[in-house]
Amino acid sequence: MSHHLRAGADEPLLRAIPPVLAAIRLGGLVPWSSVDYPGHQSAVLFCGGCPWRCGYCHNSHLWRGAADVPWPAVADFLRRRRGLLDAVVISGGEPLAQAQAVEAALRVIRDEGFATAMHTAGVAPRRLARLLPLLDWIGLDIKAPFARYAALTGSRRSGWAARAALDMVLASGVPCELRTTVHSALLPAADVIALVTELRDLGVARLVLKDFRGQGCADAGLVARHRPWLTPALAGRLRAVMPEIVLPACTEHAAAL
Ligand code: SF4
Repeated sequence: MSHHLRAGADEPLLRAIPPVLAAIRLGGLVPWSSVDYPGHQSAVLFCGGCPWRCGYCHNSHLWRGAADVPWPAVADFLRRRRGLLDAVVISGGEPLAQAQAVEAALRVIRDEGFATAMHTAGVAPRRLARLLPLLDWIGLDIKAPFARYAALTGSRRSGWAARAALDMVLASGVPCELRTTVHSALLPAADVIALVTELRDLGVARLVLKDFRGQGCADAGLVARHRPWLTPALAGRLRAVMPEIVLPACTEHAAAL
């Protein structure tokens, strides 16, 4: 990959790289994805760093802030993908852990004509507020009923942060997808029902529930404890609360509720 960038050129990707962007810590770049920003052909950048410690995290190698992909390599890649990709997704780790650098990256990406999307758990709502005007779409992780957050994330104020982030995203009008990963031991059926009800009462019409997958999870014990959890009966109860909810495949043999 060539990294020859000409400072001072007219094109946004070729301008001199501001120090805050030069310091961005990226742990990976996926050159093409059709699922990370639904309906778009995207590249995905994985930010290093996250202040939370969810046991089921499948990117724990990024927690400490990997810096494997320098921004000039990203800029060069995007320059060569003009016309082939229409969007760039900033994922993680947690992009809000380095919001200043992500803000600079979003400005460059937008200037270049790509749509912008971000995956976040809303760990820092004030930082999120600064980024929202720069985003065309946001995928917001909702982990549990807000009162139960600390048990999942290991962070005492995480429930407050997530609730504030949700309020901001809903008020912003930025198109979004709310999604929840369900590990049967961390989020039992009663909590799933409570969460969907809580979100419905906040005006959320659609939540995407995803089944926990062990790939990338560093906690082998947690992987072993996961059981099928979505019975047809539970699916029916969830749809009764939120008709547009998106559910993974049911199993007749899910753990007793
Ligand atoms: S918020 Fe996301 S990146 Fe951070 S620990 Fe939890 S799952 Fe992993």
